[in-house]
Amino acid sequence: MSFTPSISTIIENDEQLQKLLSDPGIELPPLLPSLAFALNDLSILPTNFSLDPAKTLEEQGGLTNEEQEEIRRIALNALQRLRDQSSKKTNVGEDDLRKIMSWACGTHLNGSYLQMLKEELSPENVDLRSPDWSKNEIDSERNFTVAIIGAGMSGILAAYRLKQAGVSFVLFEKNSGIGGTWLENTYPGCRVDVSNHVYCYSFMQKHDWPHFHSTQNVLLQYFNDCADIFEIRDNIRFETEVSSAVWDESTQTWALDLSSAKGEETISFQSVISAVGQLNQPSYPSISGRESFEGNSWHSARWDHNYDLSGKNVAVIGTGCSAIQFIPHVVEKANHTTIFQRTPNWLMPRPQYQRELPESLLWCFNHIPYYHNWFRLHLFWRSHEGLLPRLELDPDWENPGDNSISSANHELGALLRLYLQSEFSDRPDLLEKVMPDYTMGAKRFVIDDGLWSKTLHRDDVTLCTEQIQLISKNGITTDADEEYPFDAIIYGTGFKASEFLTPMKIVGKDGINLHDKWDGDARAYLGIVSPGFPNFYFLYGPNTNIVINGSIIYFSECEVHYITRCIQHLLENDLTSMDVKQEVHDSYNERIDEGNRQMAWGLSDVNSWYKNASGRTAQNWPFSLLEYWQQTREIDPADYDLS
Ligand code: NAP
Repeated sequence: MSFTPSISTIIENDEQLQKLLSDPGIELPPLLPSLAFALNDLSILPTNFSLDPAKTLEEQGGLTNEEQEEIRRIALNALQRLRDQSSKKTNVGEDDLRKIMSWACGTHLNGSYLQMLKEELSPENVDLRSPDWSKNEIDSERNFTVAIIGAGMSGILAAYRLKQAGVSFVLFEKNSGIGGTWLENTYPGCRVDVSNHVYCYSFMQKHDWPHFHSTQNVLLQYFNDCADIFEIRDNIRFETEVSSAVWDESTQTWALDLSSAKGEETISFQSVISAVGQLNQPSYPSISGRESFEGNSWHSARWDHNYDLSGKNVAVIGTGCSAIQFIPHVVEKANHTTIFQRTPNWLMPRPQYQRELPESLLWCFNHIPYYHNWFRLHLFWRSHEGLLPRLELDPDWENPGDNSISSANHELGALLRLYLQSEFSDRPDLLEKVMPDYTMGAKRFVIDDGLWSKTLHRDDVTLCTEQIQLISKNGITTDADEEYPFDAIIYGTGFKASEFLTPMKIVGKDGINLHDKWDGDARAYLGIVSPGFPNFYFLYGPNTNIVINGSIIYFSECEVHYITRCIQHLLENDLTSMDVKQEVHDSYNERIDEGNRQMAWGLSDVNSWYKNASGRTAQNWPFSLLEYWQQTREIDPADYDLS
């Protein structure tokens, strides 16, 4: 089983092809690159224009009407050739591939950029990130087993890479199934807010997602299908929780304490990969009286599907990404819904957010070889580095009273403000409440297709911006001394994102407890390793989150690559442990902190889960995606104490 589409022969006549190409559902930016690649013919790429990286967020990549017409005209001819040609495609050479990619990105690509984007594109659907080494070739006899903790997106990726490298592993999962966040979050309306064609593994691209942003059940199925394709299920121990991991210097192994239906046991491993994620411990607000509420209450990540909301008076606390997805479904059933908002969000308009893929686009996926790869590259490019500078401080910028930090930040902020003004033009009372006054990009954007405004406009919905003072047995009292009675309270209050790896106890060299060492301020080198904890690796660890640019799967792929390089180094050099040097870790973190201080989220003091209790940005990576790729390509043995 694989997701690679089987390409159907084109049977449409010229007129039908012309009609297809004029359909607005076809994404034109990837069309000519995919056809040039499929025909191995670069002459079809226009020389008078290419895609403008500055306009990638605009509809059809900001192409003018004339440019769009030109693309349709060239594409028609190319599709006819594809339909009528009898000879098989010849392989595209490296230099030609670079030229096609450069046209597709509107930038002359070379060096690392070319290689990184090529891996994302995965031309010919080849897995360019698979390990280029095998344990069997290095040392087939050596006993070396890795424990992976967590069978979510990053855990099953790590398992697959180890399997490809021939390294033995056991994956422990506390739940009864695969999927992590996509298994635990079952609230109504849950869907991925990153484009789905980018939110999938580069080497396991799926083209026939039903929506641009698919729903939770579809993602859960994808990761289950991946686990089957990877053939890793037999290595997973479900319903087994790791409570602690303790380093034993004498045996150079990690002893894991496990609990499951079988009881308690301890097993030792040469290495551990934590893939427990950042957003899996629900955070309940510390509001006085919370426990005294006598109605029903639950957290978005622990949805109570047995509770019938019909006719009920419901309170929702929080308006983050999760709440904004489930609230429109709650209001459909409840008698009245009161939403308690502490901080308004910057909404990022995306009309396709909940749309199904149009037939014309699916036709391209099904008939144009590699169209889906180029579609992915287009999405990847448009949402990554191009957006990051808009959230970066220009020290010479004088903000005109909108808390902007640069001209580019001000411009995008103005566009997003216009969007809110148009959505709430008839309700100045609501507009005032939903308009953010903090720096654009300081919190995560919320993707919107107009549903939020429709929801807030309803007569049976109240947006309350009074601050909650206490929760009583009957409901909620605000600082305006208003008491609201409720049947149910739903907490859309996020996760304990800064409490990395909790509640596990991790004890490294000299008996040092990782949580004591971090003391609420988690740090790691590359987000992956911490001094004193040899052979222990984190996935989605400190400072590996992204705000505006790209998908977290990209980071996981880079991290897993780096970890496999570490294991390769251990095996090739007959080492038992690698422990990152404190000074390497410290200078890296100084640079990260300095980087974050220049970014919207580091500059603003607005509430966000990007910061820990001490106010340090412990979540975000402040630099380009390329830089993370470069830093995780190869290990530098000099960074480590080796034994
Ligand atoms: P969140 O972004 O942390 O939002 C929590 C909400 O609860 C915020 O509105 C927060 O207000 C509010 N809140 C917290 N404590 C409060 C209190 N004591 N009183 C009043 N309000 C309080 O959590 P989330 O919405 O679950 O999202 C977390 C992250 O998960 C997202 O940023 C995203 O990365 C990920 N996510 C992804 C998807 C997806 O792709 N499908 C969907 C959902 C979530 P403040 O803003 O004032 O702090």
